[in-house]
Amino acid sequence: MRLSPSTPTQLSGSYHVLKSAVDKPPAQRDPAVVERVSAMLGEIERHGMDAVLRYARELDGTEREDVELTTADLDRAERSLSPELRDALSLGAERTAAFARQQRSRLTDFETELAPGLVTGVRYVPVGSVGAYLPAGRFPLLAGAFMTAGVAKVAGVPTVLACTPPSRGGGADPAVLHSARLSGADRVFVLGGVQALAALAFGLLGEPPVDMLVGAGNAYVAEAKRQLFGKVAIDLLAGPSEVAVLADETADPVLVAADLLGQAEHGVDSPAALVTTSRRLGEAVIEEAERQLETLATAEIAGPAWRDHGSVLWASDQSVAARLMDDLAPEHLELQTADDDYYLNTLRNYGSLFIGRWSTVAYSDKGMAGTNHVLPTAGGAKHSAGLSVSRFLKPLTYQRVGREATPELAGAVDVISSYEGMAAHRATATLRIGAYQGGE
Ligand code: NAD
Repeated sequence: MRLSPSTPTQLSGSYHVLKSAVDKPPAQRDPAVVERVSAMLGEIERHGMDAVLRYARELDGTEREDVELTTADLDRAERSLSPELRDALSLGAERTAAFARQQRSRLTDFETELAPGLVTGVRYVPVGSVGAYLPAGRFPLLAGAFMTAGVAKVAGVPTVLACTPPSRGGGADPAVLHSARLSGADRVFVLGGVQALAALAFGLLGEPPVDMLVGAGNAYVAEAKRQLFGKVAIDLLAGPSEVAVLADETADPVLVAADLLGQAEHGVDSPAALVTTSRRLGEAVIEEAERQLETLATAEIAGPAWRDHGSVLWASDQSVAARLMDDLAPEHLELQTADDDYYLNTLRNYGSLFIGRWSTVAYSDKGMAGTNHVLPTAGGAKHSAGLSVSRFLKPLTYQRVGREATPELAGAVDVISSYEGMAAHRATATLRIGAYQGGE
C-alpha cells in the first residue's frame, strides 16, 4: 500500500498531502527477498529435510530434528496457558468458525435445467489437503490458526497440516500451538518461514505434498508462496500488514491515531494511511500519533513504521476521499465518519472494512469479529478478496444431457467446429445427430 505524492491517481489538485510516506517499494517485492527465497527453495528441493533443518538452525537458532509436536506437547502447551487466555482463544476459534459456517451454508450445490434435456450443476468439494502457516516470528499471532486451519476444517478439508516458527530454545509458542489444536489441525510442526512452506509443498513432513498453502507471514513467507504457486495453490499474497482510516471532522483523533499505530506495530515496513475530509482532523492525528508513540511499549517498531510509511491526505470532498481509498486498496480500512454508509456503498477496493468508531481492526485481527484476517496487501485488494471458506472449496461443474437436447447442442457444435477446422470435435456432435435421427 503506497500513499505518497507519487501515487498514480487522476486526482491531483483535489487533495493535499499533510504527511507523506517515503517512496519505497513494499518489502515483499524486494529483489533481494525474491533471490533469497528462490535459492532456498532450490536447495530444499535438492536436499530435502537436510536443507530444511539447516535453514531452521541458521535462521531460527533451533537444533531440533523432530519437528512434529506430539499430543503430550500440545497438552503441556494448553496447561501452561492462563484460563483467561484459553477462554479468549476458544471464543476466537468459535467466532471465526461460526462466520465461516454461515458463509459455507450459502454456498449450496445446485442443478438447473438450462434447456429441455440439458441439466447443469455445481458441487462444492473441499481440496484434499492444506498447509497452514501460523506466523510467530516477531509476535506470536494467536488468531492465525483460526483463520487458516479452522476455516479449512469448516470447509471440510480432510488433512490440515500446521507449521509455526520455533521460539528461541526450539519449542513453539504454547498459545499458537493451542490455537492450532482448537482449530482442528491434524498435525502440527515447529518450522518457520520459507523452510516450512517448502517442506509442506514438497511433501517432506511424512505426508504427500499439500494441495494448498495458506496463511499470512513476513515478506519471505509471502514470496515463498508466490514462487510455489503453480506447484500448489495458495490463498493470496498476504504480506506486511497495512491499515487505512477514512475519517471526517466527527472522528476522535485519539482513536484514529491509536488505530493507525495499532497496525504499524506489526512491523517497521507496515504502512498506515489516513484519508480525511477535515484538515483539522488530519493535523490533530499527526500530532496525536507522536504523542502516543512517546509511551507506546512497541514504539521501536510502530515509530519507524509510522514515520517512514505513514501518510495523511486531506481530500477536498467525500467522493475524492473514496477514490483515493480505492486507489490505495488497503488491507484493512476503518470508516470513522458521519456518513459511513456512503463509503460502504461506494468503496470497491479493500480487504476488510471496519465501520464506525466502535469497530477496530484488532477485533478481527484477534479472531473476535469472526471475519478472516488473512487479507490482500500491497494493492492486491484491487483484484482479490481475503481468505474465506470458499477458497477451500472447488465449485465443480457437471452436465447431464438428454436425447431431446441433441439437435440444438450438436447442431451448434457442428457449425462452430467446422469453422474452427476441428474435425474430431465435429465428429462427436455429428455422430450424435446421426443417432438421434436414426431414432436411438
Ligand atoms: P513469520 O512467522 O512470518 O516469519 C518468521 C520466519 O521468517 C522465521 O522462521 C525465519 O525462518 C524467516 N526469516 C526471517 N529472516 C529471514 C531471512 N533473512 N531469510 C529467510 N527467512 C527469514 O513472522 P514475522 O517475521 O513476525 O512476520 C509476520 C508477518 O505477518 C508480519 O509482517 C505481519 O504484518 C504479517 N501479517 C499479515 C497478515 C495479513 O493478512 N496480511 C495477517 C497477520 C500477520
